[in-house]
Amino acid sequence: MRTSPLRTHLLRTLSLAVLTVMVTSVSFAAPQVTPQAHAATSCDDGGGGKPQDERALKKASAKRQKIQKDLDTLLNTGEVLKAQIEETDSEHEMLVTRQRRFDKQAGAAHSELASRVRRSYMLRNADPVLTMLSATDAEGVVEQSRVLGMLAEGSREHVERASSAARRNHAAAEQAEHVAEQLAQMEHDYGAIKGQARGLLEQAKEQESRLAAKVSLQRAANGSGCPLPPGSVSGGLACPVDQPRSYTDTWGAPRSGGRSHLGVDILAPIGTPQRAYENGTISRMHSNSLGGISLYLRGDSGNEYYYTHLSGYVSGLSAGQRVTAGQHIAFTGDTGNAAGIPHLHWEVRPGGGGNVNPYPYAHAACG
Ligand SMILES: [Zn+2]
Repeated sequence: MRTSPLRTHLLRTLSLAVLTVMVTSVSFAAPQVTPQAHAATSCDDGGGGKPQDERALKKASAKRQKIQKDLDTLLNTGEVLKAQIEETDSEHEMLVTRQRRFDKQAGAAHSELASRVRRSYMLRNADPVLTMLSATDAEGVVEQSRVLGMLAEGSREHVERASSAARRNHAAAEQAEHVAEQLAQMEHDYGAIKGQARGLLEQAKEQESRLAAKVSLQRAANGSGCPLPPGSVSGGLACPVDQPRSYTDTWGAPRSGGRSHLGVDILAPIGTPQRAYENGTISRMHSNSLGGISLYLRGDSGNEYYYTHLSGYVSGLSAGQRVTAGQHIAFTGDTGNAAGIPHLHWEVRPGGGGNVNPYPYAHAACG
């Protein structure tokens, strides 16, 4: 046998204990404050939301990140568990197959033995060793030829050793089956724990989202627009989202309901300032279930820019207002169908017409 089923069983029981402890600690872990979580909003110092709400938001973000990390670890452990189940299944299968072969060979050997005894009896030449062996239960004996060879030598000791190997195989097969049953139970428990962790993550996201919306409204009410660092507007264009941000070209990628992606998603922490891309006018501010809080900027070039999933507008912003490139107009959020994934979904419509891939537009200003 390649591995001891008992040893693997112990290891697996231990890993379940680790899972349980981990999930329990998720519920009771003290939130750790991650300093970079809201680094992007450091310009709100002194003019931001209420201090206790700012603190609560930081705590909620840290908690959500911690649960996310634990869930990732849990999912990795789940992969290991799955691999162990597959390994045990194949080990069990191998032992059962070997047992069947033993049984078949033993059966054949037993028949041969019986016929030899009958022949011996009929020949009135009963061999005492043969007679004794035929009366012994020879289940689980190795290859027929080997048994017959050993019988020819009259080696009872060898036959017994073979029998005991077969019995050990049988015991190992039973043990493997037992381990497989326990693994199935663990898989069930793992599923429940995973569900629990996912529930906790959802709760944490909701809490963070609620606080972020509250805080960004407070920041906006305080008029805490962030000034743009000098030199950030190049060629009259400003990146729509401050650092830290990330984005890739996902133009035309499939989306829910058979839609395809008509924008660029610029990921950034909740509350990260958003800027007017070029000089122009805020043409419309509205909210709907898909986009959440949104605005349209009509640039002086004639191009229209759509900003959506915002957590809020900068205080006092209104439709018809003139803005300059780089002016702080809104805060990054996850409203609409972006819950849990704060980002700016940004679209570009040249001359106010149909959408074009906004990635090159973003790239021109954001690098
Ligand atoms: Zn998008």
